[in-house]
Amino acid sequence: MSDRSDVLIIGGGVVGLCCAYFLEKAGCSVRVVTRERVGAGASSINAGMIVPSHFVPLASPGMLSRGLEWLLKPESPFYISPIPRPELVLWLNEFRLYCNMKHLRYAIPILKNLTSLGKIWLRNMIQEEALDCDWRERGLLMLYRSDHGQKEAERLVALAEQAGVEARFLAAAQLDTVDAHLQCNAICGVFFPEDAQVQPEAFIGALQLRLRERGVEFWEQTEVHSLVVQDTRVERVKTDRGDFTADHVVVAAGAWSGRLLRPIGVRVLLQPGKGYSLTYPRMKAPFSVPVILDEDRVAITPFRDGLRIGGMMEINSFRPWPNERRMQMMLRAAARSFPTLSALRLKQARPGVGFRPLTPDGLPVIERNPRYTNLYLATGHGMLGMTLAAITGKLISELVKGEPTTVDMRPFGCERFWQRIRLRQRWI
Ligand SMILES: Cc1cc2nc3c(=O)[nH]c(=O)nc-3n(C[C@H](O)[C@H](O)[C@H](O)COP(=O)(O)OP(=O)(O)OC[C@H]3O[C@@H](n4cnc5c(N)ncnc54)[C@H](O)[C@@H]3O)c2cc1C
Repeated sequence: MSDRSDVLIIGGGVVGLCCAYFLEKAGCSVRVVTRERVGAGASSINAGMIVPSHFVPLASPGMLSRGLEWLLKPESPFYISPIPRPELVLWLNEFRLYCNMKHLRYAIPILKNLTSLGKIWLRNMIQEEALDCDWRERGLLMLYRSDHGQKEAERLVALAEQAGVEARFLAAAQLDTVDAHLQCNAICGVFFPEDAQVQPEAFIGALQLRLRERGVEFWEQTEVHSLVVQDTRVERVKTDRGDFTADHVVVAAGAWSGRLLRPIGVRVLLQPGKGYSLTYPRMKAPFSVPVILDEDRVAITPFRDGLRIGGMMEINSFRPWPNERRMQMMLRAAARSFPTLSALRLKQARPGVGFRPLTPDGLPVIERNPRYTNLYLATGHGMLGMTLAAITGKLISELVKGEPTTVDMRPFGCERFWQRIRLRQRWI
């Protein structure tokens, strides 16, 4: 086996796999190197929601007060490690500075465009390759339990209208227009008819199989230790199973991308946002559309072969073991809104843990690196990696091939954070 390929992709998550798909399609020989098995972690355990509805970045006005409120509550979906590491302090400060109207107005059209393209390219891939992965286009319902929540729902519908995203406000009595079987304790909801869903493990399994058939090489259980650079190029990639060389190197290592890149002087401002999911195989969901309980930040997805409850955001923790208390909180939240789910027990579930790669501005990092001409970054997809994986793969293949890109790439360069930081420091 040759140690050289046209493209080496570091990270076998959903983003790395979609990059492999588009690069192979563009005629490149592709090798994927990944520490565990393909799809391990966030890419398999996520809620599988494909969400053009998520056009509002996490860093938005009101998020700071909401976050503080959550931090003070014992039953909170949000947690920040109390150990103030310098990277975390820097990230939090940048996040705080992005929570304003100016950033909201800037980010909404970008996210709206990218999430819509994400859905289109994912659907194209699934249909073209006949991937059996429970793809459904039935929309998504956000539910609210409190008066405060109702105001949030109204605000979201108004923002959606301005952004050109289809959204319908539904009073409690109208919720069954979306699903006749929906029996819940919500006082209102917002329905996003353009959203879709996919079964993440099925998608990853089917895609990996297809890629193998086309000659993409997978090196699982292979950890990349470092990138060896010379002048303006990545010369070699050192792993625990030997060195690899490639004409182009794509770093798609999720929340770990920053650690891998820092020694070569490429700094990506990323924090891991740990989340959980509980999968109940063979459990028939009491409704057919995916649901988000907005106040609890809990997502519930009905799949053809079970039900998944996902949520929680623990920032700055790479500890892989699940916290039982938080998983119980997710179950209580599900039962509060859907009394029929109160019979679910933790011990019946298949638990999963994953790390969302979070940027402070809520936009991903997708670029050809300006410093190393054969290095590409595909990371920072936060809560939207499943939605944005296909369009990211398409964009990376366009960058590698030197073709015009489907979207303007300027918002996605990793230098954007440092330019802002440097500019501020000049003014201090
Ligand atoms: C609970 C939860 C629910 C979610 N729900 C949704 C949803 O409904 N819709 C949506 O769009 N998104 C959702 N997401 C977000 C989505 O799952 C992530 O954004 C996405 O999985 C990120 O994919 P990735 O390929 O970038 O990273 P990962 O899935 O983390 O993959 C990166 C891979 O790189 C490997 N790696 C890291 N370092 C190295 C190294 N040094 N050498 C070799 N390999 C390495 C890792 O082992 C890993 O397998 C959810 C996330 C969570 C946690």
